[in-house]
Amino acid sequence: MNETQKISWTDLALSPEMMKLIEEVGYDYPSDVQAQTIPLALEGKDVLVSSQTGSGKTASFVIPTVEKFKNKNGTYILALAPTREIAQQTGDIFRKFGEPFGMQVAVCIGGADMNAEKAALAQSPHIIVATPGRLCDHLERGNLWLDFIECLIFDEADRMLEMGFSKQIDIITEQIPKARQTLMLSATFAPQVEKLARKAMNNPSQVIIAKTQSSTPKIDQMLFWLPEERKLSKLVDILKEEKGTVFIFVNSKEKTFQLTRLLNHRGIKDVTYIHSDLQQEHRELAVADFKSGKFRIIVATDVMGRGIDVDDVAHVVNYDVPKEAADYIHRIGRTGRRGLTGHASTFAIPGKDDKAIEAIAKLRGKAAPAKPVPGEKRVQERRPRSQAPRTYRPVAPKRSPEVVTPVVVAEVKKVGLIERIKNFFSKQK
Ligand code: ADP
Ligand code: MG
Repeated sequence: MNETQKISWTDLALSPEMMKLIEEVGYDYPSDVQAQTIPLALEGKDVLVSSQTGSGKTASFVIPTVEKFKNKNGTYILALAPTREIAQQTGDIFRKFGEPFGMQVAVCIGGADMNAEKAALAQSPHIIVATPGRLCDHLERGNLWLDFIECLIFDEADRMLEMGFSKQIDIITEQIPKARQTLMLSATFAPQVEKLARKAMNNPSQVIIAKTQSSTPKIDQMLFWLPEERKLSKLVDILKEEKGTVFIFVNSKEKTFQLTRLLNHRGIKDVTYIHSDLQQEHRELAVADFKSGKFRIIVATDVMGRGIDVDDVAHVVNYDVPKEAADYIHRIGRTGRRGLTGHASTFAIPGKDDKAIEAIAKLRGKAAPAKPVPGEKRVQERRPRSQAPRTYRPVAPKRSPEVVTPVVVAEVKKVGLIERIKNFFSKQK
């Protein structure tokens, strides 16, 4: 995952059996977050990890906890995850590394059969992976107790808190003995996460993996200023030009299927969608169909998109500007993986999304600015006059659409939004 890797698996004091499993899975080198977190977790320390999506956080807690508890019987490990998909994916990784040691894994998620989960819990599985809401349901029904848990894991802590699981997390945490190991993993360090860490952890070691140059994916980022009613046509153009896989983000559940229907009407049929109200089977099917290539395009909300582990998406389209700037980074992180150049297109509504775009530019300003791809020919739609009626109006109508400068979001900061607006007005006069 990282080109400048120094640490190898043999440096991490893992058992020969574990080394063999890692080899079978095909992880050649530990990722940065794994190289730093695994030794601390093996020592029994509380660890607070902040590292971007896709950096390999799952194995960084699965490998050491399996290693530590593999010869014990009873339930010792509890991992909390924000969504059913993430819980299932994490359950799968625990099975991959735990089952060869005879460890059992129970996954408890909303939408699944309560009785089947109750039966699985009654077997005293070594590992429980659960969403906080569902786990609280089981606790209320007396389906399990948590006083034997020795290792508590908060995965995607920022997301769990954003989703409003704070109360459930408190209820769960209070029922687990204080003399436990706590691991907390998060893509971002929101104040809420720090607050939870202070409350739930005991003098944690911090692992913060900054985005390094080498791991920063190459993403060609385009920003299109256009009114809501022009978004669909623009999207259709992009989807016709783009031959690879496309991940489209929208800001509401309803919009995922509305947009899918609209695209179907416009003749684009290889598109599916996913949101959190869908039945579990439908969600799994949508992800599986997208992964297998049955559908080339998927429309998702942030919550759903975050957990879907799909590599090599050719193009991410932010049909709606994300409400949180950090989500922009998560969204576009779906593309540009494995050293390939990815594409990200963002649709922004003039007069509505200006603040959000500024916030993204500020956040991006810290990272290495992505460079436009030389020779790339793209139509750049500029923002119309803010006071003018909300109709689309290109800034440079004389320019041939073939000679186009891609605008990188990071450049918005360099030029300055206000200045750009001023420039625009002076050009118009
Ligand atoms: P995060 O939780 O940080 O977003 P994940 O744990 O979901 O990241 O891992 C992202 C992807 O990287 C997964 O497909 C996983 O299989 C892969 N991966 C994890 N660790 C390694 C490694 N050491 N070498 C290669 N691939 C890895
Ligand atoms: Mg993760």
